[in-house]
Amino acid sequence: MALVQKAIIIGAGAAGLLLAHYLLRRGDQYCLELYERRPDPRQGEMSQARTFPISLQERGRKAIREIPGLEEAIAAQSVFCQGTMIYRPKSKPRRIPRQNQILCTDRNELVSIILQELTNRYSSDRLKIQFDCTCTQVDARAKTVTLESNTKEQFTTSYDVLVGADGAKSVVREFLVQNTSLECEQHYVPDAYKSLGVSRINSEKGLSAEPDLIHAWTLDNNTRLLLVPQPGDRLQGTLIFNAENNPLEGFSTPEQVWELFQEKFPLCGELMTMADADTLWKRQVARILTVRCDRFHEGDSILLMGDAAHAVSPSIGQGCNSALEDVLILDKLLDRYRDDWRQVLPQFSEQRVPDAHAVQDLSDYSFPRNKRLIFEFFLRLQVGRLLHRWFPQRMKPFVFDLVLDSDVSYSEVLRLNQGWINKVKRSVS
Ligand SMILES: Cc1cc2nc3c(=O)[nH]c(=O)nc-3n(C[C@H](O)[C@H](O)[C@H](O)COP(=O)(O)OP(=O)(O)OC[C@H]3O[C@@H](n4cnc5c(N)ncnc54)[C@H](O)[C@@H]3O)c2cc1C
Repeated sequence: MALVQKAIIIGAGAAGLLLAHYLLRRGDQYCLELYERRPDPRQGEMSQARTFPISLQERGRKAIREIPGLEEAIAAQSVFCQGTMIYRPKSKPRRIPRQNQILCTDRNELVSIILQELTNRYSSDRLKIQFDCTCTQVDARAKTVTLESNTKEQFTTSYDVLVGADGAKSVVREFLVQNTSLECEQHYVPDAYKSLGVSRINSEKGLSAEPDLIHAWTLDNNTRLLLVPQPGDRLQGTLIFNAENNPLEGFSTPEQVWELFQEKFPLCGELMTMADADTLWKRQVARILTVRCDRFHEGDSILLMGDAAHAVSPSIGQGCNSALEDVLILDKLLDRYRDDWRQVLPQFSEQRVPDAHAVQDLSDYSFPRNKRLIFEFFLRLQVGRLLHRWFPQRMKPFVFDLVLDSDVSYSEVLRLNQGWINKVKRSVS
């Protein structure tokens, strides 16, 4: 059995930080070094530019729950939602309840809490975390990585195991693509987004958005707005649109943004102040890169996890859930193979690649874009729920409910709904 002495994790996002909890609790054989390109999110102003709402369901939450006290710490800074309120032009708002509550948080808040809990539990003897420190090179033969601090100082450090949890534009993955036979497809999805925030309550107008629902608008040109409740009566959201068809393109004042929201997203418009409109107007447009790899490991010592291995479109909110689930699956394999990474790594790829490919298809094609299929989608959802209630053993719920309310593997959800996914795929092409 090859016991690991030193594991290096690149990237202190949700996947990298949760993995650090899991590895350190396995015992003294692990000491960790974690390197993160950005500053410590607990110090100073958090980068608002990169933050957006995250909703976690059973898949992600079950991975967090394994670390005693962690889910409670996250829940204390989150809001639980009971479902979604869907708004469409010329229709009444429609409430879609969820069987299980959705934990709604914000990317930077989530990361800060997992990090704080990590540093509360482990001393610097076993855990070294360095922020403002970018991985620039990997040498798989020498088992070293080269890092660069924000003052441009370079240094090299060695590893027994290297984990690339460095997001969709992973440097570790890029090294593998350039230097090994790893095959990886990367695409920017047609959607782009801007994040925004508004108060949930407008006391002057006596108006408020319901506190325990996610609010979602879809316009006929596929522009979507998602507002997710946050603690302190805030709604944190994302405006998602086709990158070629930015609804704010050419606007020269925040007043124009504000007016667009009054017209197209009425409730949100009533909650939006001119300052909110100004922040949204000035914010950069962000694009979303998806990643599909044929394996997630190299040899006996390099592993990719989370977005570095399988970034997906956020349309059904599964990127972070699946990144956290990766950690749980790795931990089970470490148990089964008694920390022998030579056996664990290929097994991880074998088990996880089909799920990662499935969650990509589910993210791209679960929710249709054309009007007729949207109607069919809601019909199937309702009928699926009824049939499942009457014949729970024989009838599984429809695709969304299986993804969001259960922890049935993504491959199985895809298998059960392949007909629907193919139909949506054909409608897009
Ligand atoms: C608008 C939007 C909404 C979303 N909503 C949801 C949702 O509701 N539910 C859900 O489950 N998912 C959602 N996601 C997806 C989710 O944010 C990601 O899947 C998740 O953050 C992946 O976590 P990660 O740790 O793998 O990667 P990341 O969160 O990207 O973390 C990677 C870290 O690595 C660091 N890094 C990168 N390169 C280097 C380097 N060379 N050296 C050192 N550090 C490096 C980065 O700074 C970063 O901190 C959403 C995404 C977007 C864009």
